[in-house]
Amino acid sequence: MERYPNLKESDQEIYNLIQSESKYESTTLKMIASESYASYSVLEACGSMLTDKYAEGYPGMRYYEGNEFVDRIENLAIERAKLLFGAEHVNVQPYSGSPANQAVYRALLKNGDKVMGMPVPSGGHLTHGWRVNFSGIDYEQVPYGPDSNTGRFDMNIIRETAKRERPRMIWVGATAYPYKIEYKEFADIANEIDAYLVADIAHINALIIAGVHPDPVPYCDIVTSTSHKMLRGPRAGFILSKIEDRFQSKYHSDSKFNLAKRIDRAVFPGLQGGPHLHIIAGMAVAFKEALTENFRNYGIQIVKNAKALSYTLLSKGWQLAGGGTDTHLLILDFRKEEFTGKDAAIALAKSGIIANFNMVPGDHRSPFITSGVRLGTSALTSMGMKEPEMELVANWIDRVCKNINNIDKHAQNIRDEIAAFCSNFKVPGIQE
Ligand SMILES: *Cc1c(COP(=O)(O)O)cnc(C)c1O
Repeated sequence: MERYPNLKESDQEIYNLIQSESKYESTTLKMIASESYASYSVLEACGSMLTDKYAEGYPGMRYYEGNEFVDRIENLAIERAKLLFGAEHVNVQPYSGSPANQAVYRALLKNGDKVMGMPVPSGGHLTHGWRVNFSGIDYEQVPYGPDSNTGRFDMNIIRETAKRERPRMIWVGATAYPYKIEYKEFADIANEIDAYLVADIAHINALIIAGVHPDPVPYCDIVTSTSHKMLRGPRAGFILSKIEDRFQSKYHSDSKFNLAKRIDRAVFPGLQGGPHLHIIAGMAVAFKEALTENFRNYGIQIVKNAKALSYTLLSKGWQLAGGGTDTHLLILDFRKEEFTGKDAAIALAKSGIIANFNMVPGDHRSPFITSGVRLGTSALTSMGMKEPEMELVANWIDRVCKNINNIDKHAQNIRDEIAAFCSNFKVPGIQE
């Protein structure tokens, strides 16, 4: 873990805190569904001197001189993303996932337009129209979500809602939906009401790359994503889109720009200034890694691991929202228990299992305590864990939940066992 020799010399406090975090992460089980581990190569590109470079504009069209090399870096990131996802157009400049989504609103809608999206308690993201976010303040959310009995989308209800409310745009994407999303079914609905269909694949991009989740690119006008989380790149966002706008004459006859151009203009100069070229370099590195067989195997294994984890938890009598998973995440459903999702998440963290409390479909508890815990397998899969390890992990989760009323008696033992177990695996970006 002895890295960053210059930082160690110049800033002991920050150096020590980074070392502490590294130690914490490599001795506990990181099961936050939105996290994984970026490689050393990604971290090196992100920590490079590109940090200093200003290059407002796009490759070949900058407002500064001296861009020969950074143009090539940004173009490599774009070309690799096109190859990876089969997209017609790519913008790699959004500073993160939320700004990427904000650019989509700017490119497609006017203030006050209706947007169909999932509320946060139903598993949507803040930027899909939630009331405290710009997207719910400047636009009107038409909510939808999984059925509270089955935990899955009911396409008939979603179609009825869309036809009644006629939103201009439909978001399809989630932060806590354990099942496959059938983009074609959403596309059929969007087509019936002339709405844009936008997929947000921040949580599941690696599964799409690996071919274990349906691909939104053929069915959606736009696809947004983060490059961190499961993709194991830097903290940033990117936007894939069609070049032409199929509703240009209907909704944008006053604009001389096509869809690709409107997105680019919404990102810069609409929302952002200079692109973060060190991060774009890291993104290019991550895309190259994601084009390998190794990465596809990682994507496939993530789902196998989530399924193995869910089988063992179910066999021990625990409930899962919707009954299981076919993605990277599962949601433990504690609606019938006396303890809350928050109680469980705290007890798990004390024992070395890091996750978050989460609403479950049909939850009767408030979003501040909830009845669920969301677990993801991306980070553990990056460490090299497979199905047999998931059984052990499920056993620890079971022990924590069964002993939740006197967890302080058990937590340290479990934590020690987990730390010893973790030492058998390498954490990318922390250990060689
Ligand atoms: C994480 C996430 C985002 C936003 O990403 P940030 O980089 O945190 O802004 C957007 N949409 C979904 C579905 C996400 O999971």
